[in-house]
Amino acid sequence: MTTLTRADWEQRAKDLKIEGRAYINGEYTAAVSGDTFECISPVDGRLLATIASCDADDAQRAVENARATFNSGVWSRLAPAKRKSAMLRFAALLKANAEELALLETLDMGKPISDSLNIDVPGAANALSWSGEAIDKIYDEVAATPHDQLGLVTREPVGVVGAIVPWNFPLMMACWKLGPALSTGNSVILKPSEKSPLTAIRIAALAVEAGIPKGVFNVLPGYGHTVGNALALHMDVDTLVFTGSTKIAKQLLIRSGESNMKRVWLEAGGKSPNIVFADAPDLQAAAESAAGAIAFNQGEVCTAGSRLLVERSIKDTFLPLVIEALKGWKPGNPLDPATNVGALVDTQQMNTVLSYIEAGHADGAKLVAGGKRTLEETGGTYVEPTIFDGVTNAMKIAQEEIFGPVLSVITFDSAEEAIKIANDTVYGLAAAVWTADISKAHLTAKALRAGSVWVNQYDGGDMTAPFGGFKQSGNGRDKSLHAFDKYTELKATWIKL
Ligand code: NAD
Repeated sequence: MTTLTRADWEQRAKDLKIEGRAYINGEYTAAVSGDTFECISPVDGRLLATIASCDADDAQRAVENARATFNSGVWSRLAPAKRKSAMLRFAALLKANAEELALLETLDMGKPISDSLNIDVPGAANALSWSGEAIDKIYDEVAATPHDQLGLVTREPVGVVGAIVPWNFPLMMACWKLGPALSTGNSVILKPSEKSPLTAIRIAALAVEAGIPKGVFNVLPGYGHTVGNALALHMDVDTLVFTGSTKIAKQLLIRSGESNMKRVWLEAGGKSPNIVFADAPDLQAAAESAAGAIAFNQGEVCTAGSRLLVERSIKDTFLPLVIEALKGWKPGNPLDPATNVGALVDTQQMNTVLSYIEAGHADGAKLVAGGKRTLEETGGTYVEPTIFDGVTNAMKIAQEEIFGPVLSVITFDSAEEAIKIANDTVYGLAAAVWTADISKAHLTAKALRAGSVWVNQYDGGDMTAPFGGFKQSGNGRDKSLHAFDKYTELKATWIKL
């Protein structure tokens, strides 16, 4: 916790020295081309820094270094207990620099400073330490061999990992990858989103300070179609891990096939149903949760509860509770510790969200809350948390991922119909069910095609549970020991005795 006021954060923002260069082999460095791009804050349109605009030449340099470091064994063959110690120091350094990292995150992508400080930075540090803690407690296997054979089933680091991440939780998404990727001994090249590169660039130096050898963790800021694409096509990147949109995820699968068949693990989009049955144990709690599920992080959440499915018999009681609860989520200056809804990441994203609000009107949905841009005088990109009632699942706002604070309310008459609507989407990331009937809860949870299902809550979970999607929400899982599968190859060694 911190006692810093908005004025304190503003002062710190003024004093902040922001690094915008790439990080390769333990050094900050300009892009080979010398190109840069501007990093503009969505808080108020201020220029934060110029950022190295990396491309294929930088990717080449970083991959060569990462490969050399991997082959040297300085990290990949280090005893797991020693890697663990470095990962724990890395996590501790994130915490020690929490205020600076939180400020960078908030200025860069517009989320409330209280969230950056209390959710993003601790969550990122926890992802590093949890994976680091695990690495010297995992054992490999001995196969059930005949008497004269010994079969060892061991895990090895895959080698060079390219990690491409989005802008909605820049530091946390990066650390969900870095935790298991580094702990298992790989060399990593992180490409943050061009919309939010600052914390990734900053933590690269913290990794070296923590004792992770130079060249093990590299950061290449830049655009997706340049440096991102170069990593995806590189013949010496062994594994590509990605969090971002389904559209780009599909392109990465193609790039893998066009190049070296690198493993591709994808955490992609979502359009998650939040199903409230008439027998929900606490309608007030369900309403507050539904409001938070669409307003938290400005709705820029892959698991946002963007489709609220409500049983018809309670609709007239329940919807006013949601509308009331949403009034507690109010856009404000993200540097004010009391703010719980910040700015959307940039003008482009704001316009996308506003165009979906237009589509809701055009398709005949009924606006019952929000619906407009707000705080325009600040120069920032703010949109009111918005609710449309009378949505059918075929409407554009119910089918497409908006990635903003726009909730679609859809009514159903039976559990069967709720499940059908919930699953009628190309996505399968998450879902929630509210009911006091334990059998209904289990049966509905089983029928939902989603990687995470929450019962009588929204967005539960921690590092102990895997996170990822069914269908076009992706493959593989972040978090938990299952995440280690993405960063290791299984080897069978068969010894004749
Ligand atoms: P995006 O797909 O536009 O970009 C993600 C990353 O990919 C960025 O770093 C971007 O620069 C890079 N990229 C873009 N084009 C590329 C290309 N041609 N080749 C290689 N890299 C390229 O997504 P976004 O707008 O940054 O993030 C929002 C999306 O992320 C949403 O769809 C959201 O659901 C998803 N997301 C998913 C999860 C999850 O765990 N499933 C978590 C957070 C966000």
